[in-house]
Amino acid sequence: MTQITCAFCKGTGKDPFDLLSELATCQVCGGRSKFEVKEQAIKCAFCKGSGIYPRNARVTCTVCNGKGMVTVKGATEECSKCKGTGAAKDSGLPCTVCNGKGVVHKGG
Ligand SMILES: [Zn+2]
Ligand SMILES: [Zn+2]
Ligand SMILES: [Zn+2]
Repeated sequence: MTQITCAFCKGTGKDPFDLLSELATCQVCGGRSKFEVKEQAIKCAFCKGSGIYPRNARVTCTVCNGKGMVTVKGATEECSKCKGTGAAKDSGLPCTVCNGKGVVHKGG
């Protein structure tokens, strides 16, 4: 079991943008500030672990859903299409090969 601190609210459990009110809970973690995952967790390549969508700072990253981390199973290697950045070079959208994770399963 791996514990992830919510990247979107930086573990505060509060909405980082104060969209509703100062006391609004974080929409990503629901105010719990942490997640527990069964699989191995790596930093989300697409948002570089920030949990924020690179092109719109008020939107959660669509790859990790704002957690800042993504889970992987087994051995992985760097995605050759996006070179580990998680983003497609032309569109800036999440890479379609690795789905924005920046890594793919080793050996295909
Ligand atoms: Zn949060
Ligand atoms: Zn992300
Ligand atoms: Zn990729």
